Amino acid sequence: AKEMGGNNFQFYTSAMRERLGERVQMETAMRRALERREFVLYYQPQVDIATGRIVAMEALVRWQHPELGMVAPGRFIPLAEETGMILPLGAWVLESACRQLVEWQREGRGYLRVAVNVSARQMAEHDFVQSVARVLEETGLDPATLELELTESAVMNDVEHAIDVMRALKRLGVKLAIDDFGTGYSSLAHLKRFAVDVLKIDQAFVRDLTIDPDDAAIVTTIIALAANLNLQVISEGVETVDQLSFLREHGCSQMQGYYFSRPVPATAIGTVLDENEAQ
Ligand code: C2E
Ligand code: CA
Ligand code: CA
Ligand code: CA
Repeated sequence: AKEMGGNNFQFYTSAMRERLGERVQMETAMRRALERREFVLYYQPQVDIATGRIVAMEALVRWQHPELGMVAPGRFIPLAEETGMILPLGAWVLESACRQLVEWQREGRGYLRVAVNVSARQMAEHDFVQSVARVLEETGLDPATLELELTESAVMNDVEHAIDVMRALKRLGVKLAIDDFGTGYSSLAHLKRFAVDVLKIDQAFVRDLTIDPDDAAIVTTIIALAANLNLQVISEGVETVDQLSFLREHGCSQMQGYYFSRPVPATAIGTVLDENEAQ
């Protein structure tokens, strides 16, 4: 930047300062939001296609901002990951989702599981496995009914560490899914060593499934791969009956998406489950 003259250098430093300012501001805002309990969890059903039954709920965080209204996670999770605020936020999400599931199970939904997203930053913490163990103990949740969604990119970030963490989590008895599968360049050699139960096909491949032969090929390949490795497979982002039919015909047993339900607040889950149980 120096050779390009003072102005350019100035430009870069002020842009960097602005970026830093934004990060600090966001960090402060999120810390305050956690204290003020402005984060809420929405839940989106995961459906077993053979039976039509809801088998699990994915917890998805939102920020109920006093001025901005409901803020989607895409607008704060990446910055939360950069600043480290994802650590207290992620801990809150995990604990809240587990508590909520215990409540639903006690209300007669004993069959239900919950899926919780885990960020790369959480996985990298040396005491992450212990923190999961502690939440399970404190909430009394049956570990088999907790599923952790680890993104493929987080796992590929540091493969050897991820393999250790996955093995330790399996020892706790929780279920593991690889989220956004197909977007993170896992090599098949690695996949064999991952102690996972579920591959979750990213919605990027599901969107144009019925019109784009390349996406169709990727999705059928992932389904076949999962079957051959004895893994379950779930598709996210299922919006249409055509996508559903294609996925069912090709052996995808579980699905999630607007076709079944949008993510809904916990207070609306009773109605969603009642309707599903009655059908
Ligand atoms: P994700 O884990 O891949 O979650 C799926 C996203 O797709 C959710 O967006 C969900 O609302 C949306 N979605 C579900 N069905 C459909 C559909 O049929 N069509 C379309 N177009 N979209 C659908 P959301 O809730 O905005 O979350 C976005 C991302 O933010 C998540 O992607 C996840 O990576 C992250 N995220 C959300 N909650 C948490 C959390 O508690 N912790 C962490 N680390 N990340 C989270
Ligand atoms: Ca997810
Ligand atoms: Ca996903
Ligand atoms: Ca995704």
